[in-house]
Amino acid sequence: TPAPAGADYDFEDLPEHRPIRLQLAALESLGLEHPFYRLNESGPTTAPVIEGRPQLSFASYDYLGLNAHPELIAAARDAVARWGVSASASRLVGGERAHHRQLEAALAKMQGTEDCVVFVSGHATNVTGIGALMGPQDLILHDALAHNSVTVGAQLSGAARLTMPHNDLDWLEDSLARRRGDFRHVLIAVEGLYSMDGDIPDLARLVEIKRRHGAWLMVDEAHSLGVLGATGRGLAEHCGVPPAAVDIWMGTLSKTLASCGGYICGQAALVRHLKARASGFVFSVALAAPLAAAATTALALMAREPERVARLQARAARFRDRARAAGIDTGLGQGFAVMPVMVGDSLRALRASAALFERGIYALPIVHPAVPERQARLRFFITAEHTEAEIDRAVAETAAALSAL
Ligand code: PMP
Repeated sequence: TPAPAGADYDFEDLPEHRPIRLQLAALESLGLEHPFYRLNESGPTTAPVIEGRPQLSFASYDYLGLNAHPELIAAARDAVARWGVSASASRLVGGERAHHRQLEAALAKMQGTEDCVVFVSGHATNVTGIGALMGPQDLILHDALAHNSVTVGAQLSGAARLTMPHNDLDWLEDSLARRRGDFRHVLIAVEGLYSMDGDIPDLARLVEIKRRHGAWLMVDEAHSLGVLGATGRGLAEHCGVPPAAVDIWMGTLSKTLASCGGYICGQAALVRHLKARASGFVFSVALAAPLAAAATTALALMAREPERVARLQARAARFRDRARAAGIDTGLGQGFAVMPVMVGDSLRALRASAALFERGIYALPIVHPAVPERQARLRFFITAEHTEAEIDRAVAETAAALSAL
């Protein structure tokens, strides 16, 4: 297509854009519909209509089903009515409101730390939080499966960066023994529940290692809050490790808490430092009132209705057990709300997802470069709202679709 009239540069010519165009053309020539950006015509439900077709969805990380909770919706609505939609200022200069302090207090209480700071995005929380703490004299060791926001934050910080083979704590020990002395601060960054593979790290051993080598430990609880632990408090509760043993607890408001934003919980001095130095906090607008109110309400609901956590844990374990019994390869998935179904290469994953869509099961393919080419998969997010019958149906349809491929 020609460049729009009056444009000086035609972005169709951007060399970096070529692979994207080629990928789209390849999908078309294979007769496969683009699996991403399908139009979801429904609100928060496990049974949405997507491009006109009723689906049973496993594509939402509303783990406890709180996004449709009337109390949460009412809290957001009241907050808009009282405070407006936008905060219209950064926290530092005019945007500070009681709902920010209430949310931070509730998060610190839930996590068992001295204090907390919230950011407008989970992604920005990692990028800017890591950037505020680490610099060129420092070393970051992060898991190979750490989220993009961690690797981007590590790259931008200017610190040296080493990638730990997934959950390989022997490698971590060895690297720290050899390299610790060369650096000022060392940060170990892991996830509470890995978002592509559905497994967890050995927190007790991580704490022991980081103490011995004088490193900081950061845990990203995006997918473990509300999911792990008897009351959903995450990895520390699941592993029986005291919260203060982890230096930096990071999480998002966008999954279990049915809102949008991110947070870091930890010592009061850490939070004070981030509020002064994290550019994505200092130079960004304050969290909008309805989002703060929704997240605070979600935390209260999680505490008041722990049966949601128990139900989610039972449903996810059921998915794991049924899938294994049906001969489905669930990779490293441990039965904790994020369950991969390993299918082989990217093309097979696209075909599997398309076949499931035909059968009314909405599970998205995860393909290269998000995962290695031979480890393409479908990813199922299990929520507390999925019934036992729905879990069983999803597993049966998946087994059938895979064997028909
Ligand atoms: N960390 C992890 C592990 C994530 O999976 C995500 C996004 N899914 C983020 C951080 C970023 O959070 P958000 O989407 O809330 O910006």
